[in-house]
Amino acid sequence: MPFHVMLIPTLGCPANCSYCWSSEEDSPVMSVETIEEVVEWLKDFRDEPVTFTFHGGEPLLAGADFFRKALPLIAEGLSEQKIAFALQTNLWKMTPELARILAEYDIPIGSSMDGPKELNDSQRGEGYYDKTMRGYEIAKENGLKVSFICTFTSNSVKYKEDIFNFFLENGLNLKLHPALPSLRSHDPNELALEPEEYGELLVFLLDKYLEHLNDIEVMNINDICRCVFTGRGNVCTFVDCMGDTFAVGPDGSIYPCYRYVGMPEYVMGNVYDRPSMEDLSRSDAWKLMQEYKELVDEKCGDCSYINFCRGGCPYNATAPYDGEIVDVDPHCTAYKRIFKEITDRLNNEMFGGSGMELCGLNAAPPVSAKAGIMDIMRRH
Ligand code: SF4
Ligand code: SF4
Repeated sequence: MPFHVMLIPTLGCPANCSYCWSSEEDSPVMSVETIEEVVEWLKDFRDEPVTFTFHGGEPLLAGADFFRKALPLIAEGLSEQKIAFALQTNLWKMTPELARILAEYDIPIGSSMDGPKELNDSQRGEGYYDKTMRGYEIAKENGLKVSFICTFTSNSVKYKEDIFNFFLENGLNLKLHPALPSLRSHDPNELALEPEEYGELLVFLLDKYLEHLNDIEVMNINDICRCVFTGRGNVCTFVDCMGDTFAVGPDGSIYPCYRYVGMPEYVMGNVYDRPSMEDLSRSDAWKLMQEYKELVDEKCGDCSYINFCRGGCPYNATAPYDGEIVDVDPHCTAYKRIFKEITDRLNNEMFGGSGMELCGLNAAPPVSAKAGIMDIMRRH
């Protein structure tokens, strides 16, 4: 996993999605001075490429002036390292001015949309769809590449066919996100997707994707196929994320991941103190994450998928237990379902019957054959 620093300019957000677990009213906004401190902290922290993702809350609330100053500060201040940027936003606050600033740094945008307007707005609030689409048009006009995260809840999963078709017909790429239990909510599991349903949904999306391989990209399926094919995790959920991912909150506090920002018990340090890796590793939050790693070794030791799953996401695992480390990611059932499906299909394609000739990433796919896992691998 490449080194990843998530910058959370604010936990504030103008939207009010029903399953949101990461926004906070009256959250402060990160100052440009804090960005300067981030740069100073990272100068001697790790000598390797780093990806910065602006996340939230809603990061565009920080405004054009913040991004106009923050981006060159980071890019020039850390020019010795290889820098990449990304941004996750609902696009409501996108303006031509902001889009031009982001386009200068060729920043890929991730946004959120849960399907057709009516379904989306029933989960994300009245008016969400139109506001996001308005921002999407501005982003596109300025040459920004936007892909969408689609959150499936225990309710919207019933309309999975309509949702897939919506993305397909509108030419939008899709990243699936299962609604998570929230550490902040009084009823953490209200809209969360059951692991069995999530597993079935992944297999459904795999089949739909294979039917329409030339017309849409389902990013999670790409990632999971790559994990199985290479035998190694390649997204944070499927590696030990600890130590390779950090998040910096509006006041400069450092957390293990954006999902913990705003929770004081997960603060590992502050950029103003320029902590080293050793300093961070003495924090309680680090010890908690270390405990999770040990639990994974113990509970997942016999699992065939441990090398490219690593117990899934620690946040998902701790959310149902009020932050305590009790079990691995509850999506384990879903992961096993899709890992097995892909492993079986891949084995069949590579070693079963006439599939032998499909071995090798460079072999051209037969025109008439039904697409398979190897076709996804050839493309991504
Ligand atoms: S806690 Fe979960 S979301 Fe955060 S970096 Fe780790 S695996 Fe990824
Ligand atoms: S699939 Fe389940 S048991 Fe296997 S490594 Fe992942 S979380 Fe652990």
